[in-house]
Amino acid sequence: MYLKELEINGFKSFANKSSLKFDSPISAIVGPNGSGKSNIAEAFRFVLGEQSFKSMRGKRGEDLIFSGTNSAGKQSRASVKVFFDNSDKGLPIDFDEVTVERTVFRDGVNEYKINGSSVRLKDITELLASANVGSSGHHIISQGEADRILNTTPKERKTILEEALGLKIFEYKKNESQKKLEKTDENIKQVQSLRREIAPHIKFLKKQVEKIEEGKQIKLKLVDLYKEYFKRESLYLKYKKQELAHAIDEPKNRLNEIDKKISEYREIAEKEEQTELKGQIQTLQSDLSQINSEKSDLIRKQGQTEGELQSLEKLLSRQEVVKREQITIDQSDLESLEQKISEIHNSIERESDLMVLREKISQIVSLISGFIKSQNGEDEANQQNKELLSEIETVKGKLSEIVSEIEVVNQRESELQQKLSQMREQLESDKTDSLVAEKEIIKLMTEKNELQQIISKHSVEIHNFNQDEANFKQELMEAHTISGREALDYENIEFKEGDLHVQEKEIAEEERQKQLDRKREIDRLKIKVEEFGSGSGEEIIREYEESNERDKFLLSEIEDLEKSAESLKQLITELEEKISQKFHEGIEKINSEFQRFFALMFGGGTASIRVVKIKNRVRRDTDLDFGQDEIPEEEKQEEGLEVDVSLPRKKVKGLMMLSGGERALTSIALIFAMSQVNPPPFIILDETDAALDEANSRKYGDMIENLSGHSQLILITHNRETMGRAGVLYGVTMMQGISKLLSINFEDGIEWAK
Ligand code: ATP
Repeated sequence: MYLKELEINGFKSFANKSSLKFDSPISAIVGPNGSGKSNIAEAFRFVLGEQSFKSMRGKRGEDLIFSGTNSAGKQSRASVKVFFDNSDKGLPIDFDEVTVERTVFRDGVNEYKINGSSVRLKDITELLASANVGSSGHHIISQGEADRILNTTPKERKTILEEALGLKIFEYKKNESQKKLEKTDENIKQVQSLRREIAPHIKFLKKQVEKIEEGKQIKLKLVDLYKEYFKRESLYLKYKKQELAHAIDEPKNRLNEIDKKISEYREIAEKEEQTELKGQIQTLQSDLSQINSEKSDLIRKQGQTEGELQSLEKLLSRQEVVKREQITIDQSDLESLEQKISEIHNSIERESDLMVLREKISQIVSLISGFIKSQNGEDEANQQNKELLSEIETVKGKLSEIVSEIEVVNQRESELQQKLSQMREQLESDKTDSLVAEKEIIKLMTEKNELQQIISKHSVEIHNFNQDEANFKQELMEAHTISGREALDYENIEFKEGDLHVQEKEIAEEERQKQLDRKREIDRLKIKVEEFGSGSGEEIIREYEESNERDKFLLSEIEDLEKSAESLKQLITELEEKISQKFHEGIEKINSEFQRFFALMFGGGTASIRVVKIKNRVRRDTDLDFGQDEIPEEEKQEEGLEVDVSLPRKKVKGLMMLSGGERALTSIALIFAMSQVNPPPFIILDETDAALDEANSRKYGDMIENLSGHSQLILITHNRETMGRAGVLYGVTMMQGISKLLSINFEDGIEWAK
C-alpha cells in the first residue's frame, strides 16, 4: 500500500482544487515562508481523521475552510481526499485503490467517506490503524515538532511509541473493549435495576396467581363435590318421590274404600224406618185377612153345600129304601155299599184337602150309582131318583167349584203368607244389619283414623320432600352462579365400589347424614371460593406470565451481558498482554536502532529509551462518605518512557543538557529508529531539518534515503541537501492569499526555497 495522491479543495489557503501526486519514494515540497506548505501537512492530518484543531493550528472547523481574500470569496467547505494504491491489500478492503475523504462545513459538521461512501470517523480510524497510519501519529512531524518526543512527558512518549509500534490498533481495540465493557456493566446494572424494580410486582402477582390457582383447585373440588352431591340428591329425590307416592297411594286408596264402606254402612244403619216394607207388610196382612174371610165364606159355603148334598143323598137313600121295600134288595149288597161309603166317609172325616174330598165324594157317587144300576124296576121311583141324582150332581158340581175356589184361595193365602214371612224376615234382618253396620263404622273409623295418621305422617314427609326438592333446585341455581355450568353436568357421573357400579337404588338409600355432611363441605368450599374471588384471574395470570417472561428475559440478558463482559475482560487481558509483549519487544528493537542512528549523527555516544514506573495520584471520588478535603488519594502505577543520552566526548548526560541542534538530531534519531522498527507507509516531515548544519544535513540526507527504503517520505523543506534526495519536487506559491502548487525540478526548487 502506498500514497498516490493528495487532493486539497477549499482547505485553508488552498482555495482551489489542487493535487499532489507522490510518484517517488521521496517527495519534497518547497516554497517561501507563508506560501502554505505546512497547510499541506495539516491537510494530511485532517484527512486522516485528526480531531485536535490545535494540531491543525485552528480553533474550530471553520478555521480550516478557505476564508477568502480581497479578490476571492470564502469557501463553504474544506475538503481533502487522499488516494492509496492498495494492490497489496495493505488496507483490509477489497479494492486496488482506496480513497479516504473528509469534508468540513462552516457549521462544523464533518463528513467522512471511504471510496465515495459515507462512513463514520471510527471506520476511517480503524481502517488506517490496520495499516499503521494515524492522524496525529509519529509519521507526521509538524514544523518545530521534531523534538516533541523529547519534550513531552514519559507517559505521552510511551503513547507516541506505542503508535509507532503499531500497537494503536490493539490499544484502540482495547479501548473499544473497555468502553464496551463499561457499557456492558452499565447495561447489567440497568437490567439488574429493572429486575429489582419488577421483582416486588412479580412477587405480588405470584401470590395472586397462587391464590387464583388455589381458588381454582377449590373450585374444581367444589364442582366435583357438587356433581356427586347433585347426582346423589337427584337419585334420592327420584326414589323418594316414588316411595312416597307408593306409601301414600295405598292408605289413600284404603281411605277411599273405607269412606265408601262407611257411607254404605251409614246407609244401612240409617235404615231405621223401613216404612215401605212395613206398608207392604200391612197391605199383605190386610190382603191375607181378606183372603181368610173369603176362605171362611167358601168353607161355610162348602159346609152348606155338603150339608145340602148330605140331605139330597139322605133323600135319595130314603127313596132307595122305599124302592127296596118294593123290590127286594139284597141285604148283603147294601151292607157292602154302606161299608164302602162308610170307609170313604171315615177317610174324609178330617180331610181338609178339597181335591181329596172331591175325589172321595166322586167315589161315593159312583158307588151309589153303580148300586142303583144293579137294581131293576126303577120307573117312577127311578124318575125321582134321577131328578135327585141330577140335583146331587149339581150340588156336587157346586161343591167342586167351591173346593176349587178354596184351593185358589189357599194358594193365594199361602203365597201371601210366604211373602209376608219373607218381608218379616227382611224386616228382622234389616234390624240386624244396622247394628252390624254401626259396629263396622266404628271399626272403619278407627282404621280411618290410623290411616289419616299415616297419611299425615306421610304429608310431613312429602312436605319435607318438597322442601328438599325446592332446595335442590335452589342449590342447582346457586352452583351455576358459583361454579358455572360444569357443576350441573352431573347426570352421567358414575359411582363405583372397586370395579362394580353402585346401583342407583343403593345410592338413593344412602344414609341421609352423608349427604348433609357433603352439603356442609360444599358450604365450606363455597365460602372459600368466595374468599378467593369468583373471577378467573386470567388477566392476572397473563400479567404474571408476561412479567415472569420479562424477568426471565432480563435474567438471560444479564447472563448474556455477564458472559460478554467476561469475554471482553478476557479480550482486554489478552490485548494488554499482547500490547505489553509487543511494546517491550519493540522497545528493544527501537533501542538498538536509536543507538545506531544516534551514533551515526553524533559520531558515537549512547542513546536509549527505558520504561519507567510513574506514580500517578488519583483521587478516589467514588467514595461519597468522605468530605471534599478528606478524599483519599490513591496511587496508580503507570508506565512511561524516559530517554537517556550520552554525547561522545562530552561529559553531559540527559536531554536537558543538549543544544537545540543536538535535541533536533536526537529526536530525529529516535523518530527514524521508531520508523525503522515498524515502518509506516509514509512519513511526513515538516522542516525537521531546519536546525541542521551542512554536515548534519548530509547525515540527515543519508538517513532519509535509508528510511525511504521502508516508508514513502514527504518532506517539507528549505534544505538543499534534502531537496537533492527527493525524486519529486512540488513548489508552493501564494498569490493573492491563495496557495498554488507546481511540479518543479531541483534547480527551480533551490530557487523556490529562497
Ligand atoms: P513557513 O515556511 O514560514 O512555515 P508555510 O509555507 O508553511 O510557511 P503555512 O504556514 O502553510 O506556510 O501557510 C500559512 C498561510 O496560510 C498564511 O498566509 C495564512 O494566512 C494562510 N491561511 C491559514 N489559514 C487560512 C484560511 N483559513 N484561509 C486562507 N488562508 C489561510
